[in-house]
Amino acid sequence: MSDEQDVAIQEKDTQELIGQYEKKIFDLQQLLEISRSLCSTLEFSTLIESILYTCMGQFHVLGAGVFVLNALDTDTFHLDSNYSGIDINPNISYVIPSSNPLVRLLESSNNLFTLEELAEELPDGTDLNMIASLKPSLIVPLIQHNHLNGILVLGERITLAEDSSYSVDEKSQLAVIASLAAIAVNNAALLERSSTDMMTHLKLKYFFFNILTDKLDHALSTDSRLSIIMFDIDFFKRFNDTYGHACGDYVLITVAKIIKSSIRAQDMASRYGGEEFTVLLNETSRDDAMIVAERIRSKVEQYDFCYEDQHVKVTISLGVATFDSQENPVTLPKLLVDQADQALYVSKRNGRNQVTFADPKLISDVKLDN
Ligand code: GH3
Ligand code: MG
Ligand code: MG
Repeated sequence: MSDEQDVAIQEKDTQELIGQYEKKIFDLQQLLEISRSLCSTLEFSTLIESILYTCMGQFHVLGAGVFVLNALDTDTFHLDSNYSGIDINPNISYVIPSSNPLVRLLESSNNLFTLEELAEELPDGTDLNMIASLKPSLIVPLIQHNHLNGILVLGERITLAEDSSYSVDEKSQLAVIASLAAIAVNNAALLERSSTDMMTHLKLKYFFFNILTDKLDHALSTDSRLSIIMFDIDFFKRFNDTYGHACGDYVLITVAKIIKSSIRAQDMASRYGGEEFTVLLNETSRDDAMIVAERIRSKVEQYDFCYEDQHVKVTISLGVATFDSQENPVTLPKLLVDQADQALYVSKRNGRNQVTFADPKLISDVKLDN
């Protein structure tokens, strides 16, 4: 071999090495960016979306979904509603009990599996039909502190090569992303649990105030509106006294369900106190907030509350307040809540089972009354 040939080969090897290192640097930069993005997201639904889109983009996957532990019932994994690009059959229940051998295998091995590898490893007769129906190219456990807190299912891959399986490098990159995702899911689930009222599954007062503070700042900076509804169950003491505390609890849980069914996913309902609730309606005008409040009032009034064969009638009184940079430029969350509370007081005073808007004139009259 001539000296020139030797130099040419060395040059080619060097270029290849440089290419490999450049790819490694690029992958590490990507991982840093993914880490930053996942660790800065505490809102559960946004986080799941972020995990899915990251994996789909990085690994050229057509669809993906994550099974997560229900934040309030940690015995089952259910397919989070933020799945993307996978066909869901409404007749199939996408739920995996914690006792399923699949959960134990993923937790103990902390490995990534294809469907075929899973079938080989799991005891004969383990039902994999539901997972198989998602046409997974890979099943990835999300493990934090030795506990499985999620199962990531990556769907079909788009690849020009005939072999669409994952390379060793891709698998190790995926394992790192999965470990970051598991930490983020754990943090988000902790926040979800600690900010949620266990009885009604609505948010707690302190969390409502945190979010209201953020949304008010946003409304101020973007010159948009924001409304809150505050309401209280009428004569609730009577339910407890007449039908017992358990019936009172049933009413609270049912009213919470009615509220949830009456608002959009981006709105937030909270249990403000014993039988007082709030709803935060982001980017919502006075008129639209009044429509929502009236919808909730009417639904509660018409609902057939039935506890141990006893039919009971429930009504609520509501107050609505709207932040508006021209009409009502309040900057403190507490002030907006006080306005809604005073309007609620007027609803009570005027005979209950009604909605009142916190007009500035009305509020000053209430203050004079008190
Ligand atoms: P008003 O129409 O003026 O609101 O009358 P009210 O009877 O609802 O008055 P008040 O707000 O004073 O009563 C609230 C009652 O709610 C008293 C309390 O025992 C009851 N309560 C608070 N939290 C719970 C709970 O978690 N479960 C049950 N069953 N009752 C609760
Ligand atoms: Mg009350
Ligand atoms: Mg009450």
